[in-house]
Amino acid sequence: MPKEKRSEFPTARPFLPETPHLPNLREAAENCRGCDLYQNATQTVFGEGPEKAVMLLIGEQPGDQEDRSGRPFVGPAGRLLDRALSEAGIPRKQVYVTNAVKHFKWVARGKRRLHDKPRRSEILACRPWLESEISTIKPRIIVCLGATAAQSLMGTGFKITKERGKVLQTEWAPLLLATVHPSALLRMDGPEREQAFSELVMDLMKAAAAVKTTAAR
Ligand code: SF4
Repeated sequence: MPKEKRSEFPTARPFLPETPHLPNLREAAENCRGCDLYQNATQTVFGEGPEKAVMLLIGEQPGDQEDRSGRPFVGPAGRLLDRALSEAGIPRKQVYVTNAVKHFKWVARGKRRLHDKPRRSEILACRPWLESEISTIKPRIIVCLGATAAQSLMGTGFKITKERGKVLQTEWAPLLLATVHPSALLRMDGPEREQAFSELVMDLMKAAAAVKTTAAR
């Protein structure tokens, strides 16, 4: 009998429940040790939203406030996202929000904990949770917020600069649209931020319109 091969790379896969649904996925993710990121984080921040959401939004990873509260998109970037969703006419309660990586990766700057970009190996390690969320919810459209989310699903060749705002057909969901992460807007000021915010709202409106158009067929 061939020897069972041990995984040579970090992965969350052994921690997944056999018959996944959102409650047992969330519970199992609390004890994930699929990569090293759990070690410096307070807790797993799993996705949140209706089990039958039509739209699933994916960010990069939890931030400082998300790590403390255990909920996704509750910090400054989350508040900006809420405002953009509201302006696009999309109730946040109707969308499922999650991240490509479920633990907060950070570096210390004095007393502050600053975001540290996850490595490709960490993104891939965490992807089984994301895959399970997608296959459980079966959204009509996935909206990737930023390059990490987009590249987690579409590979490193996927460039937001080129593909942003396009409605694509993918293996992950009938429709997928990639746009910027709201945290990118927090690093801008004045008119530049206003312009970027309007573009984010337009992308979200495009995603909502694409769902309506395809549902009407
Ligand atoms: S980041 Fe993802 S794979 Fe790594 S320990 Fe956390 S939940 Fe598991």
